[in-house]
Amino acid sequence: MVGESASDVVRRAEEDGLRLVRFLWCGNDGTIRTKASGIHGLEGRIEAGIGLTVGMSAMNSLDGLQPVEGLGPVGEVRLVPDPATFVVLPYAPRTGAMLASQQTLDGRAWEVCSRSFLARMAQRLADERGGVLEVAFENEFSLAREEADGLRPLDRSLCFSTIGLTAAQAFADDLVAALDEQGIRVEQYYAEQGPGQQEVSVGHLPALQAADRQVLVREAIRGVAASHGLVASLAPKPWPSDAGNGNHVHFSLWDPASGRNRFHDPSGPGALSAEALAVVAGVLEHLPGLCGLTAPSFNSYRRIQPRAWAGAFRCWGIDNREAPLRAPSGFRGREEASANLELKASDASANPYLAVGGLIAAALDGLERRLRPPRPVQVDPADLPEARGPPPLPRTQDEALDALEADGVLMAALGEPLARSYLAVRRSEWAAYSAGDAGFEQRGHFSKY
Ligand code: GLU
Ligand code: MG
Repeated sequence: MVGESASDVVRRAEEDGLRLVRFLWCGNDGTIRTKASGIHGLEGRIEAGIGLTVGMSAMNSLDGLQPVEGLGPVGEVRLVPDPATFVVLPYAPRTGAMLASQQTLDGRAWEVCSRSFLARMAQRLADERGGVLEVAFENEFSLAREEADGLRPLDRSLCFSTIGLTAAQAFADDLVAALDEQGIRVEQYYAEQGPGQQEVSVGHLPALQAADRQVLVREAIRGVAASHGLVASLAPKPWPSDAGNGNHVHFSLWDPASGRNRFHDPSGPGALSAEALAVVAGVLEHLPGLCGLTAPSFNSYRRIQPRAWAGAFRCWGIDNREAPLRAPSGFRGREEASANLELKASDASANPYLAVGGLIAAALDGLERRLRPPRPVQVDPADLPEARGPPPLPRTQDEALDALEADGVLMAALGEPLARSYLAVRRSEWAAYSAGDAGFEQRGHFSKY
């Protein structure tokens, strides 16, 4: 990060001999797209933006433009980057990047812009509750080689196996260095259970910065893999019969004035405060609809299955990896700092701005109505008899989108124009993939997330 202004970015770009600076955004389809500016004229483009057709908000992950009123071929917005997010991309060293919002021609936040939606939700949390949501993403992903007969996973090693990490050693070293050079603090790295599956987790930041950084992490995973001749995929279910890729979201509510973590209360269940419990209740109340934002693609529901550590039933649990909302136990000596909740029903085919903005809306509802959660589930919910166990989460993308559309709180938070474009894009993906075969689904998701 270099500073706050356009001229700081231009100076740094010139000093580093950059040729291009990418203006990055994430679409309603969860894919990351960019238009890059040359160095000549960069300052003006940072200030006034790059032109973008409104139609990009109606584009699905198959590059199919959906018929959404007001988002056709006529009409333009501006892609305006935030200079505070500027980084040089270590895997493309003559290239810089910034995260961009979409603005109307007269410089207002565009109501369909997902980054502006999250900024608005973070502001609501500050105004209504005086709090900051700190967020950290755990990225699971799969490494593969493109061979003549298709994609082949990098390894077939065991969960947390050193063999799996060794197979990816050169990649892992470069990924951690690339994140470090962008000021992104790596917390943990290991080989996960699935074929060629790895995981990297990074430190927490306030919601908007965390979502910005999530875009950079996804970019770095794929960019570093490409420089090693590998394909990296964050698709929810890269291989139909093996472990899925989660993108678990850890979150906690902090008081900016005192620097206190308001989720922590040593006397509460799971050392959670009354506020944290109200947030648990709010998230559970809205979880089916929230899945439409956090696990939003056709492929997401191959992953959200019982006994897959992804959380397939609507419940929470303390240290329960089969609960979609887990309260992880705190760490000795850092009890307050480490108090958090983890949303497991979440994957990297989500637009992180929409996912976290939706999470804040659900949390706010729980806090506002002082909701109380049910008792934590401390067994694998799949072991409970159906009549006594928690209900299943949506079982398909279609069911999740129906739940989202039926959720008045989430829909009101998104606002009608954003909600309408989002649902049109995601429902079109359901139509395409539910009519296709498994190979079409796998290729469609593997190569886009
Ligand atoms: N791979 C699992 C998922 O799809 C998560 C495993 C874990 O708990 O880290 O969410
Ligand atoms: Mg994991």
